[in-house]
Amino acid sequence: MKKKVMGVMAAVPAAVLGTAAIRTALMKAKPAGERPACSRNETELERMGHDFARMIQVKTYSWQSEKDNEAFEKLHAVIDDLFPLVHEKLEKTVLEDEVLLYHWKGKHAGKAVIITGHQDVVPVEGQNWSYPPFAGEIHEGKIYGRGVNDDKCNIFTQLAACESLLKKEFVPDSDIWFVYGTNEECSGPSAVHAIAWLKEHGVAAACAWDEGGAVVDKAMAGMDRPYAVIGITEKGYADVKFTAAGEGGHSSAPKAETTMTRLADFMHDVNHAHLFECSFTPHVRAMFENMAPSFGYGMRFLFGNLWLTEGLLTKLMPKISNQGAALLGTTVCFTEMKGSDATNVIPTEASVVANVRTGYTQGLDASLAILKQKADQYGLKMEVLSSREASPVTPTDTKVYAYLCRCIHHQFPDCGVSPYVMMGGTDNRHYADMTPDCLRFYPLRLSSAQLGTMHSPDENVDLSSLSDCIDFYAYFIENWKAEYGSEAV
Ligand SMILES: [Zn+2]
Repeated sequence: MKKKVMGVMAAVPAAVLGTAAIRTALMKAKPAGERPACSRNETELERMGHDFARMIQVKTYSWQSEKDNEAFEKLHAVIDDLFPLVHEKLEKTVLEDEVLLYHWKGKHAGKAVIITGHQDVVPVEGQNWSYPPFAGEIHEGKIYGRGVNDDKCNIFTQLAACESLLKKEFVPDSDIWFVYGTNEECSGPSAVHAIAWLKEHGVAAACAWDEGGAVVDKAMAGMDRPYAVIGITEKGYADVKFTAAGEGGHSSAPKAETTMTRLADFMHDVNHAHLFECSFTPHVRAMFENMAPSFGYGMRFLFGNLWLTEGLLTKLMPKISNQGAALLGTTVCFTEMKGSDATNVIPTEASVVANVRTGYTQGLDASLAILKQKADQYGLKMEVLSSREASPVTPTDTKVYAYLCRCIHHQFPDCGVSPYVMMGGTDNRHYADMTPDCLRFYPLRLSSAQLGTMHSPDENVDLSSLSDCIDFYAYFIENWKAEYGSEAV
């Protein structure tokens, strides 16, 4: 691959390469600041961890067959107990599906800051954990458990920030709403219900802030600092079923082609044919240009001179990195298969489901049309089980966005900040109905390894990161001005 890159670059005139090299040398990022010391001592961290563990101990599954309203009620009782001032001073509403809303009245009427999270967690069945997943055990400064990261941490730290500000009798500049859904993990409608309720009650949003990008150490290889990444859009999504129908029969004398082999050929083709266009859309371009100065020379040259390297990177990235492919275009992942119910029967009907995440150059319709063409080629029936378009892109030239960046620089001075494209979904996409200023950011420091424990065994976070997260929410709320929610810069 190295040879190929050099070969392509060799075709570029020396003067152009020289310009790019000089630009790269001048592009160095400002030296990163020091990571501030944690504001809580070890005893305080332990106490905070034990408080948080009480929320982890309530098993709030949202999968339909397992949704247990009593568990959510129990979680509400724990929250009331952990945050007595929140309970006493904020106006609390519980919707029918256990969505929890808190209204904190500000000094100025007008647009409110909506801060959200979700109470539900994904199952742990079949996973091998080092510690019990619903205990919230603390080991070497880290708390382990399902939901410590996704997403009970958000609820805990937001309300802890609120509690600490209430203790000081602080009143926010704008109204603040905390909204906690109950079925984000299964794409359920609780956020939609909450939004309908808020609109019905005349709430206008200055911004809607949800989980999303975190403060990640080594977000990309070769970076010289951790990066706080703010999700500004979520890719489109579709679950698509492909069915092959054909002759069945006994498996003892099979034909060369069966319903199963046709599906297999189709899957192999889709996986290897590079069906979808890859491109640097403006927000992907902005992300790399933003991050480029923090890379070492080679990567800085490549990503800091997209005017020269874009064509090359568009070809290379999907081949060398799954994340790169996902950033630049539509992806297809086959996830569920169904064939015969017996080991010795050729199925007359076999099917496979693909999870599709659509890009921005080829949206939902264009991506599905390409898949349909391929399915026709193999004589498969194609059925779209569910789908949604990509969420609108949050503008980054607004006072709201600039304010969030300022808060990040203040609270995480050792980190870079960048917008990014979210591959996964959050409840936040629904809030685009209320405001264009949808922010997907998790003020939580995570290592790449911790990031990988989300939805997986041994989900864990550092207690010191939890503490920083509380301080971040408190800083944001304390310094927020009603005027930020008005219009573009
Ligand atoms: Zn989540």
